[in-house]
Amino acid sequence: MIAHRMGRSVILLERGQHPRVVVGESSTPLSNLLLEDLATRYNLPRLSPLSKWGSWQEHFPNTTCGLKRGFTFYHHQLGHPDAPDPNRLNQLLVAASPHDRIADTHWYRADFDELLVHEAQTLGLEYVDEVKLDKFTDQGNAVLLEGKKDGHDIAFHARFVVDATGPRGFLHRALHLPEATLPDYPSTQALYGHFSNVSRLDQEPGYSGLGTLPYPIDDAAVHHIFDGGWIWVLRFNNGVTSAGVAARDDAAAPLCLSDGEAAWKRLIDSIPAIKEQFADARTEHPLTHVQRLSFLSGRICGERWALLPSAAGFVDPLLSTGFPLTLLGISRLAEIFEHEWNSPDLSIRLRDYATQTREELFATSRLIASLYANMNNFPVFTALSLLYFAAASYSETARRLKKPQLAASFLLHDHPTFGPACRNLFERALHVCIEKESDRLIEDILKAVEPIDVAGLCNRERHNWYPVDPDDLFRSAHKVGATRDEIADLLRSCGFQQ
Ligand SMILES: Cc1cc2nc3c(=O)[nH]c(=O)nc-3n(C[C@H](O)[C@H](O)[C@H](O)COP(=O)(O)OP(=O)(O)OC[C@H]3O[C@@H](n4cnc5c(N)ncnc54)[C@H](O)[C@@H]3O)c2cc1C
Repeated sequence: MIAHRMGRSVILLERGQHPRVVVGESSTPLSNLLLEDLATRYNLPRLSPLSKWGSWQEHFPNTTCGLKRGFTFYHHQLGHPDAPDPNRLNQLLVAASPHDRIADTHWYRADFDELLVHEAQTLGLEYVDEVKLDKFTDQGNAVLLEGKKDGHDIAFHARFVVDATGPRGFLHRALHLPEATLPDYPSTQALYGHFSNVSRLDQEPGYSGLGTLPYPIDDAAVHHIFDGGWIWVLRFNNGVTSAGVAARDDAAAPLCLSDGEAAWKRLIDSIPAIKEQFADARTEHPLTHVQRLSFLSGRICGERWALLPSAAGFVDPLLSTGFPLTLLGISRLAEIFEHEWNSPDLSIRLRDYATQTREELFATSRLIASLYANMNNFPVFTALSLLYFAAASYSETARRLKKPQLAASFLLHDHPTFGPACRNLFERALHVCIEKESDRLIEDILKAVEPIDVAGLCNRERHNWYPVDPDDLFRSAHKVGATRDEIADLLRSCGFQQ
């Protein structure tokens, strides 16, 4: 749609047919802000309402989505009943929005992706589905794509191909691109699917919370962490729940994740609250097992092609990094096409895009590897995840203040002080053995977070519950070079007041 808006002639090619069921559903404040920015910058007003729960309900009431007010985490020991913890040491609740209207969403991809394709067609783009592409030839001044549709040969000429076909996708295979490794990243696998009849976790004893919760715990991306793996639960407003598990191979092996539904049952039976929550649940389709979850392509662009970040690599669903990485990539490619389409610098800019994409996937993998290494050490896991929340909330604030240069990279990985500090902390987190090391690491993490903390994440009196409090932002205005009035304007313009 963006390329079409720039006057390019665009064709969308799809192997399957919409609607189709895929996972990868949970959005974040940063992904929604990027979506909104793209919609504004490229005059796609029909897409803007999809960036918030309230406007989505108003404009697209028949397009299914889920309400995401925050990130909910609980820590469990498989096979042991959860002990009530008045100090909240086994939980972490980080709110992402102050109320439902401007909340994030889980995108029910069957509906969401179909809607996008429909919008693209309405704009006038050509869309061809059920195409089986099998050949890519660079002809010097154009690309020839060849394949089959309805059993007949089909061919397309294009000046440029953007590959959005996901990990190990079309160009990776057609061009025999090498696979690269994510440094120090463990081998992980996943098992997931869609379920109906899943009850709410807050109906289980001990989960309704004592005191004022930052948001209802189920209206969130719910994470259940155990040694070597984690479970996600995302509720949609059509009665369907997306749930799955990702785990290091050593944690996945005893669960035999490749057994599918039997493995899922074995896993949830070992966590009493989830067992109860799924007691009447039914799978909507057979569960999917992925033996190798992470991926990085050894090449990300060529003269006449580029992989979107979602095709260039994937780390893990943890912390929903897929959409923001991809939207950042879309935004960068859009700028390249806008300014360099006919310039001799096109290749140089594409190489910069590839470098940024690879570096951001590396930064993500360093964060997620450190989290996997500490899933049995929840205080350290919690502190490490604050590095993510601090970078995300700082980036959101900087972008909303129209100062994107303060937060140009995902996770602020090339920030002059926060970037190197994170690298050092993630590295140390891979080797934490004794309690004293954990305590020192937590202290050092909080020291790194403080200079960019605009969300009260360093406030220990919150005991792992972080609501959205505008006072945190006012107190931290200097960290983003803003005045109190500018912060007040920001809160007004993003619909903070109900
Ligand atoms: C288990 C799991 C959970 C995830 N959870 C999250 C999450 O909560 N939040 C988040 O931000 N990210 C998440 N991700 C990442 C997220 O799925 C991706 O970032 C996102 O799906 C990318 O969307 P996409 O439409 O570009 O790619 P995809 O969803 O992979 O779609 C690719 C499309 O390309 C088509 N295609 C494939 N091959 C060809 C071909 N040869 N020719 C033509 N068409 C082809 C496919 O049919 C499909 O329609 C998750 C990923 C996984 C694996």
